[in-house]
Amino acid sequence: MANKKINKKDIAKLLTKWSQGFTVFVPSKESGVAIMSKWDGKDTSFLDWYRNTVEPAKANFFPSMEEMFSFQKDKEGYHLELPPSDKQKQLIFGIRPCDAKALAILDMTFKDTYEDPYYLSKRNNTVLIGLSCTNPYDSCFCTSLGISPVESKDVDLMLTDIGDEFLIEVVTDKGKELIATASGVEEASGADEARAKEAKETSFNKVTRKIDSDGIKEKLLPAFENQDYWEKVTAKCISCGICTFLCPTCYCFDINDELVKNQGTRFRNWDSCAFPIYTKMPMENPREEKWRRVRQKVCHKYEFYPMLFDIIACTGCGRCIRLCPVNWDITQTLNSVPAKTTA
Ligand code: SF4
Ligand code: SF4
Repeated sequence: MANKKINKKDIAKLLTKWSQGFTVFVPSKESGVAIMSKWDGKDTSFLDWYRNTVEPAKANFFPSMEEMFSFQKDKEGYHLELPPSDKQKQLIFGIRPCDAKALAILDMTFKDTYEDPYYLSKRNNTVLIGLSCTNPYDSCFCTSLGISPVESKDVDLMLTDIGDEFLIEVVTDKGKELIATASGVEEASGADEARAKEAKETSFNKVTRKIDSDGIKEKLLPAFENQDYWEKVTAKCISCGICTFLCPTCYCFDINDELVKNQGTRFRNWDSCAFPIYTKMPMENPREEKWRRVRQKVCHKYEFYPMLFDIIACTGCGRCIRLCPVNWDITQTLNSVPAKTTA
């Protein structure tokens, strides 16, 4: 399908149209923090300030706290009740290519390995409208991982800022349907395509932080037991867990029951391998020392996930760098993996 375009002034009309069939999420500020939240039906000022959200879009599919079921106990035993299945269609407008890729990576765990009904009920009812990234952060390094800040195959429609307008690329059949009935959408001209190409090249070149991801799995393997290296690169971490909670590809969770007499609710909540009690067991804790926990976080993304799925479970979104309270930097850790272990 030929590319389209829309004037930025018509984005509110487009979102209004889509609101008839979907709950529309857009970048918004809550207490000054950028998150994806329900569109209020009028505000499109995010087009001016939005760079990326603090909380990744994974929260729309795998919330920080989620009810799994409620239960009651009587003399006949336990009775379970599932929460209503989440069939509400959602549309996420403005997701960045790195965060859309992160959802494709999460699918490998929540869809391909094990069918997680809570995640899939939302994932299967969602359309993604990507927005190319024109102002990446200094902490971003997506291009080192084969991810473009301006292109995506993991969204339904991809928009690129070309001045007063957005160029619209149709990526999937769902995207084609969405655009077919939208008003204010026109055919893109050759000049529009040329403007988009130039804008994309400029944005791509703004991602200057780099890691050498070629052969990183093979480099990490012999360094796994190199305690000196891991202690050195993890010295300043305070085990707060922020980097894992806000990482778009981290998916660890804990399960808790809230009980009142004979009834209760079971929830799952985000958990973090950075926490000292994460692997605590009655007899021992295999990751009591901090260096073992940070090693787990890094190796899970750059060694274990590639072994399982042939893909690095990091998108270079840079959140773990810019949001870490002590400036721990995964790129420094990866760029200093020793060639050979000294252990
Ligand atoms: S955000 Fe920083 S300090 Fe907190 S656990 Fe991650 S690396 Fe450690
Ligand atoms: S490890 Fe850091 S850079 Fe990589 S996806 Fe997670 S938060 Fe983003």
